[in-house]
Amino acid sequence: MNKELSEIVKALKNYISMEKESGLEEILLKTFETESKFGDKAQSLSGIEKDVKKCRNCQLCKTRRNIVFGEGSNNASIMFIGEAPGMEEDIQGRPFVGRAGQLLTKIIEAMGLRRQDVYIANSLKCRPPNNRTPTALEISACRNFLLKQIDIIKPKVICCLGKPAASAMLMIDLPIGKVRGKFYDYNGIKVMPTFHPAYLLRNPSEKKLVWEDMKKIMGALRK
Ligand code: URA
Repeated sequence: MNKELSEIVKALKNYISMEKESGLEEILLKTFETESKFGDKAQSLSGIEKDVKKCRNCQLCKTRRNIVFGEGSNNASIMFIGEAPGMEEDIQGRPFVGRAGQLLTKIIEAMGLRRQDVYIANSLKCRPPNNRTPTALEISACRNFLLKQIDIIKPKVICCLGKPAASAMLMIDLPIGKVRGKFYDYNGIKVMPTFHPAYLLRNPSEKKLVWEDMKKIMGALRK
């Protein structure tokens, strides 16, 4: 059982013992419903992860060490979508664990959230050799997996980090500098494209623009 689930089960056990004492059966049943929804999400995501592990839709399956499926809260109200795994991510099988990831974590924390409260994924689940930019073909080969993740998690806001993520979500081919800072719509979900943290490491003066975008996201999350 994963950590999140065991924490939910522990909290439920405490809750049930309190409920038993007070005899409020109706609230108890609702609690079980909520638990089964959590269970369904985890199960559906792990089903997709199994499919990604078997995926041979593009040539990246030949050079990957690990797939990088995504991680975080299955009930996140915000999802961050990056470009593709880099070397460190390919080794660990986890998204954003290198230098760009450290900056992303800082941004998330500056928004008053913890990394485990959000969900982090990529437009590609496999590392392109030498970290080259994903091709349009690779993005479209992987897109269905990402859309399924979004459909299960149902975030309120999606933040696309860089052009490949914005292309995957919005089917556009425009420079990120032209599309960032505005909300777009994907099936009723607000989508905010912004600069990728790796770009910010090379161009720190652009951090203030990203912070403007994050403030818009924080406003949308409060609504
Ligand atoms: N850059 C990305 O776009 N994704 C990662 O997971 C790591 C670095």
